[in-house]
Amino acid sequence: MGTDDEIARLDALRQLNLLDTPTSESFDRITRMAAQIFDLPIAAISLTDSDRQWFKSRIGVDHQELGRADAPCAQVAETTSALVIPDFSKDARYADSTLGRQGILFYAGAPLVTDDGHGLGALCVLGTEPRSVTPQEMDALRDLAAMVMAQVELQHAFGRIDPVSGLPNRTQFQEDLDDLAREHPGQARFAVLVDLARPDQVGSLIRVLGANFIDEFVAMAGRTITGLLGPNRRVYHVGVTQLAFLSEAGHSQDAYRAILDAGMKATTKASTMRFVTTLTAGLVPFTLGRMRSRDVLRAAHSAAQDARNSEGAVGVFSPAGDDPHLRNYDLLRAFGEAIEQGDQLRLAFQPRISLATGKCIGAEALLRWLHPELGVVSPGEFIPVIENTGLARSTTQWVLDAGLAQVRAWQLAGVHVPLAINISASNLEEEDFAASLALLLLKHQVPAGMIELELTESALMEDSGRAIRRLEALRAIGVRIAIDDFGTGQSSLAYLQRLPAQVVKIDQSFIRGMAAGNARDRILVRTMISLAHQLELQVVAEGVESAEVDAVLATLGCDEAQGYHYAPPLESAAFASWFHRFNSPADGAGHAAGTGA
Ligand code: C2E
Ligand code: MG
Ligand code: MG
Repeated sequence: MGTDDEIARLDALRQLNLLDTPTSESFDRITRMAAQIFDLPIAAISLTDSDRQWFKSRIGVDHQELGRADAPCAQVAETTSALVIPDFSKDARYADSTLGRQGILFYAGAPLVTDDGHGLGALCVLGTEPRSVTPQEMDALRDLAAMVMAQVELQHAFGRIDPVSGLPNRTQFQEDLDDLAREHPGQARFAVLVDLARPDQVGSLIRVLGANFIDEFVAMAGRTITGLLGPNRRVYHVGVTQLAFLSEAGHSQDAYRAILDAGMKATTKASTMRFVTTLTAGLVPFTLGRMRSRDVLRAAHSAAQDARNSEGAVGVFSPAGDDPHLRNYDLLRAFGEAIEQGDQLRLAFQPRISLATGKCIGAEALLRWLHPELGVVSPGEFIPVIENTGLARSTTQWVLDAGLAQVRAWQLAGVHVPLAINISASNLEEEDFAASLALLLLKHQVPAGMIELELTESALMEDSGRAIRRLEALRAIGVRIAIDDFGTGQSSLAYLQRLPAQVVKIDQSFIRGMAAGNARDRILVRTMISLAHQLELQVVAEGVESAEVDAVLATLGCDEAQGYHYAPPLESAAFASWFHRFNSPADGAGHAAGTGA
C-alpha cells in the first residue's frame, strides 16, 4: 500500500471518530451474529490504526487492541478483500504471528470499506481449530461487514444533521471549515451567519403559533438560501434560528456584501414571516487556517449581533471594532516576527526546591518577550493569544531548542539542572511532536530524563483519547510529564489515573488562598497532595511566597515547591550563580535570592 493511500486511509478512519470510543450494542449485535453463523467463540470488529488493530466490538477477546504488524485484519484492511486462513500452522505468513502464538488456528475476515474505497479494518471470526468455510458463510460475513459500515455511516451522520431542518449542523460546519483550511490554507474567505429573528420574536412566535412554526420557518429559510447559493453549496443550521454558510474563493468583501444585501432582501420578501421577524446577518472575513473554526462562528455571531444593535441588516466583523481584539491581532503579528528573528525572546529560569532537603533540584523555563515598541509583554497575555494558532508549534520549538541548549551548557559547566518546559495543548495535535523532541535531545546531547514537559490540566482535557496516546509517545522517549495549574480544571479522578504523568503542580491560586489563611484552600491542598500521592504522582506547589507556606507544605508532605520565596524566574547567568550559592552547604537553604527576570 502506497504511503499516500495509507495517509488517506488513516484520515478517513480518523474522521469517523470511531477509535477509542466505548462499545455499543448496535455493533456488538453484528459481532454476535458473525460468531453464531460460524459457530465460533471469537469474533471482532477490528479497525486498522497506524500501528494497531483496535476492536470496536469483540467477543471472546480480552484485550482491546493488537499490534498491527502481523494481524490478518490489517491485511484485510490494506487489500480491501476478504481473507480466510483455514489453518495457521500451515500458513507461512501467520503461523508465528501474535494470534498464532496465542493458539488461534482459524481466521476469516471481511473488509470494512468506505464509499470512497478506503479499508478501515475487518469484521472477523477466529477459532482454535482448523476449519474450512463455505461460500454461504463468506457471503454472510460480507453482508455483516456491510451492515457494520452502514452503522458506521449512520452514526457519523447522526450528530451532524439537524433532525428538524435536515440541514448540516454546527459540528458539520466546523468540520467542513477545518477540511477547507487543510486543503486551501491561506485562502481568504467569508463566513456568513444569518439570524432569522430576535430572541423576543422567537418567544412570541412560539407562544402564538407554536414551536412547529419556527421549525417550518427555519427549514423554509434554509431552502431559500440554498437556492440562492446554487448547487453544491451547503447551508448549515447552527443555532435555533441561525443559518450559516461559507463564501467560495475569490470574492472581494464589497462584492460579497452587495450579494449578501441583495440576498437578504430576496429572503425577506419571500418570507411570509417578514412582518413578525427581522433578519440580520454577520459577515466575517477570515483566512483559512489562521482562525479556528469555532472562532469564525463566534465572530459571525457577534457581527450579526452588532447589526441588530445598530438596526442594520448586515454587520461586518472587524477586529478593529473592539480593542482587545485589536491588541491580540497586533500581538499575533508582532510575535510571529519575534519568533522569526529570535532576538526579542529569552528564557528565564525559576528554581524548583525539594522540600525534604531544601535544595534546588530543577528549574522551569519561562518565556520572556521584549518588543521594541510594545515593551515587555507577559506570557500570561501572549501565550493564550498564540496558543491556538500555527505559532504554537514554532514557539514550543523555539523554547525547547533554547531550553535544551541551556541544560547542555549548564551541564558542561558542572551545574546539573533538570528543566521543566511548558508546552501547549495544540502541540499534542502534532503527529511528530515526540519524534522531533527526540531529535532535539540528540542534537543537544541532553538525556531525556533531564526534561519534564508541563501541560495545563485544561489542555490535557481537550481531546483525552489523543492526548493520552501522544503523552505515551512522549513517555516512551523518556521525558517526564507534569500536569500544570492542577486543580483549576475539572478532571475526574478516573481521567487522572489514565494520564501517563509523573508530576502535578498545584495551582498558585490554592497556595495563595492557603497563605491568606483560607481554611478551605488548605484542605484542598492537603487533599490534592494525598490524592496525587495515591496515584504515585510527585507534587509541586507553585507560588510559594513565604517561609510560613513553605513550612505548612512540608508538613503536608508536599514534595517540591516553586515561588518568589526561594527565587523569581532568573536570567541564565544569574541562575547559575544563584544555584551555587543556594545549594552550597555553607549557606543554609531556603533563602530568597537573586534578581528578577
Ligand atoms: P506557569 O507555567 O504556571 O508558570 C508559573 C507562573 O507563575 C510564571 O509566570 C511565574 O513567573 C509565576 N510565579 C512564579 N512564582 C511565583 C510566586 O511566588 N508568586 C506569583 N504571584 N507568581 C509566581 P509567567 O512567567 O508570567 O508565565 C505565565 C504562564 O505563561 C505560565 O504559567 C505558562 O502557562 C505560560 N508560559 C510561560 N512560558 C511559556 C512557554 O515557554 N511556553 C508555553 N506554552 N507557555 C508558557
Ligand atoms: Mg508551568
Ligand atoms: Mg502553573
